[in-house]
Amino acid sequence: MSDINYKGQCACGDFTYSCEGEPASVMACHCRDCQYASGSAFATVAFFPAANCAMTGPSKVYTVKGEAGLTVNRHFCGNCGTPLYSMLAEMPEMLFIKVGTLEDPNLTPLQGHMWCASKLSWLKLDDGLVQLPGNPPLA
Ligand SMILES: [Zn+2]
Ligand SMILES: [Zn+2]
Repeated sequence: MSDINYKGQCACGDFTYSCEGEPASVMACHCRDCQYASGSAFATVAFFPAANCAMTGPSKVYTVKGEAGLTVNRHFCGNCGTPLYSMLAEMPEMLFIKVGTLEDPNLTPLQGHMWCASKLSWLKLDDGLVQLPGNPPLA
């Protein structure tokens, strides 16, 4: 099923994208920065090689230093505010796409949790998936 074409967009439709092939990983990120960016307890992101993705439409970028000290470019829709994807300046070949923006978010089931060192204390994880304290080993 490597020919799956994942499609997604922001809430207003100004920004659309598609990605070919399977995501390299699908992780819930519990870092403080993703809590701000999602306005919630964690962000769920699918890792896609940038070369496999086509992004269409304008997005705004907010750049932050992540918890690991890497430079995170966070793309969001300037019209409706939907968080779309992020990209590390140090690793531009990978895009971290917000799973909630996929046409069918069920196509990318969660594979693990990262930045559990910042996980909210009331959140109990019982899904049996890996719980990394920080970033996964980045290829
Ligand atoms: Zn939008
Ligand atoms: Zn994060």
